[in-house]
Amino acid sequence: MKRQYPALILIALLCLFTIGSHPTPAVAQAGNIYDIRTWFLAPSDHAKKLWQQVLDSAEYKEKDIVFRKCHHVPNAMAYYFPPEGYWWNGRWVETKKAEKYVVYNPNFMAQLDLYTNSDKSFPALGIFAHELGHHKLKHFEQSPKTPHQKELEADEFSGAIMKKMGASETDIEATFRLMYSAWATPTHPASDARIAAICKGYHGDKAEDALYKRLIEVHKKFNEQMMRWH
Ligand SMILES: [Zn+2]
Repeated sequence: MKRQYPALILIALLCLFTIGSHPTPAVAQAGNIYDIRTWFLAPSDHAKKLWQQVLDSAEYKEKDIVFRKCHHVPNAMAYYFPPEGYWWNGRWVETKKAEKYVVYNPNFMAQLDLYTNSDKSFPALGIFAHELGHHKLKHFEQSPKTPHQKELEADEFSGAIMKKMGASETDIEATFRLMYSAWATPTHPASDARIAAICKGYHGDKAEDALYKRLIEVHKKFNEQMMRWH
């Protein structure tokens, strides 16, 4: 008897970031509408290199996460497909074993590269680290943690990995400016909580540090601008 998994198991933990209000254009690509895994394509060499840097910094040695690109994910996602199979578009999809993925949207990543000044592509590295965090911190396993708690944990993990990779406070600010949405959503916490989490990862347990104040200030300015634009 097939089990109906709640959408939660299947869904990716939607990654934190939205950028601007421009939706990703749909791109025609071959794929079976009943199996999202067929929409996942080989990543670019550039993205693969960044992903490997994140794995190395996190000392993640298991080779159990498949890294792919997909035009249909909003920015980047972590996926877990259970060994029993999963529901997708109203049909049961068999899986032979559990599968873990991190998938990025190449259009979104191109935007990040376009706007970043750093040759180290910290915004992309930060996002990939966040997604790795969901797997490393076992967020797809049974847990009393709420989706928001998981997102904050992944943010903290990302902050720590970026620090390890040599990100300066300015790199963290640039990453923040590019990526953070201004308001909480059902799956993602409000930005001030995310700022505290990323600073905790970056600087240890000092929520009230200079970086925190700097990012809160940027966040406030974003909100003021948005109020004007709406
Ligand atoms: Zn996330």
